[in-house]
Amino acid sequence: MKTIDNFDRIGEENAFAVLARANALAAQGRDIINLGIGQPDFRTPEHISEAAIQAIKDGHHGYTAANGILVLREAVSADLHKRYGVEVSPETVMIMPGGKPTMFMSILMFGQPGVEIMYPDPGFPIYRSMIEYTGATPVPIPIREENGFAFSAQETLGLISDKTRLIIINSPANPTGGVTPKAEVDKFVAGMDKWPEVAIMSDEIYDQLIYDGQEHVTLLKYPSIRDRLILLNGWSKTYAMTGWRLGYAVWPGKLYNYARKLSVNLHSCVNAPTQYAGLAALTGPQDVVAHMRTEFDKRRKVVVEELNKLPGVSCIIPAGAFYAFTNVKNTGWTAKPLANALLDETGVALIGGPDFGIMGEGYIRLSYANSTENILKALGRMGDFLASRKAG
Ligand code: PLP
Repeated sequence: MKTIDNFDRIGEENAFAVLARANALAAQGRDIINLGIGQPDFRTPEHISEAAIQAIKDGHHGYTAANGILVLREAVSADLHKRYGVEVSPETVMIMPGGKPTMFMSILMFGQPGVEIMYPDPGFPIYRSMIEYTGATPVPIPIREENGFAFSAQETLGLISDKTRLIIINSPANPTGGVTPKAEVDKFVAGMDKWPEVAIMSDEIYDQLIYDGQEHVTLLKYPSIRDRLILLNGWSKTYAMTGWRLGYAVWPGKLYNYARKLSVNLHSCVNAPTQYAGLAALTGPQDVVAHMRTEFDKRRKVVVEELNKLPGVSCIIPAGAFYAFTNVKNTGWTAKPLANALLDETGVALIGGPDFGIMGEGYIRLSYANSTENILKALGRMGDFLASRKAG
C-alpha cells in the first residue's frame, strides 16, 4: 500500500499517550495521580445530562442538520450576545463535535505547500500537527514566561509574511494558562489592517476560565476582522463535557459553507441528544460554571504556592485555564525525562513542555483540574523525588 506522504507528518497529543500509560500503570495496581489530561474533574451538571436523557425519550434519535439544530445555534448566538454584547447571526454558527474539529477544518482550508500558518509555541499540539499534515510551513509565535505567557502583538505582527494565510491565537491558553491583555489584542487587531488577506482563528475554548476578576477579550468584538475571523469554542471545559464531544464555531463568509460540506462528508452531524444537552447548558443556570471556576481558582493558588516551594522549581500564577506551566530549568532535569521519571517512579502523571513546542523545553504542565487532596499528594511526591533523585 502506498498512502499519501501527509500521514508521515501528522502528529498527535501526548496527553492521550500519558493518559493511556497512567491508566495501564493504575491497572497494575499502582497509585497514580493524573495531572496530565486537561479535563475538569467535575461531573457534567445534572440538568445537562437529564436534558440528553429526555431528548432520547422524546425521540431525538435521528440525524440533525449538518450545522446543528437551529435552537442550539440561536442559543449560542444569544449566549455570545449576553456575555460579550456582540451580534453573531445563528446562520454563522456551526455546531461541531468538540473544539478540535474547528481547528482541523480551518487549517485544512488554508494549509498547502508554499504557504505559512502561524501558531503559538508553546501551544496546543494539534495546531502544528495539522499544519504539517497539510504541507504548509508552521511558523511558531513564541509565547514567553517573562511576558506572563501572553502573546506579544509586536512579535506576532513581525512574523507575518506574504505567504501567511492563517494566524492561530489562543487566550486563555493551553498549556500556559496565559491570558493576553486587551491592550495587546487591540494592538494586534490594529496591525492586522495591513494584512487584509490573512485569516485569524481564535481558540477561545477557555473563555470562562479566567481569574482575578479579569474579563475575557473575545476577538468577535473587533469589527475590522470579523470577515476573516474563525471563532473556536465549545462546551468541553466550561461545562465539564469533554467526553460528550460538543463544540461550536463561528465561520465568516464562504468558509461557513466549506465547513458545512466538510461536516457532511465527515460526521454528518453532532449526535442529537448531545445537542439538547448543550442547549440545556447554555439556557440553564450558570452558577455551575461559577462554582467550577471558584474551585479551580482555589486550587490554582494552592498549586502555585506549593510548586514554588519545590527545589529548582518556579511557577508564575496562571491567569486562566486550569494549567500550571512550571519552570523546571533549575532542577537539573530536562522536561521530558523529568515527566517520564515522575510517572514511573512516583506515579504522578503530567506533561513535558516540549510536547507543546520547542519553546516548552524547561517546563512541565500540571493540570490542576484534580482535587486539592490529590494535588497536594502529587506535589509532596514531586518534592521528595526532586530532593532525593539526581537528574537523569
Ligand atoms: N483548544 C484548546 C486550546 C484545548 O486545550 C483543547 C482541549 O484540550 C481544545 C481546543 C479541544 O477541545 P475539545 O475537547 O472540545 O475538542
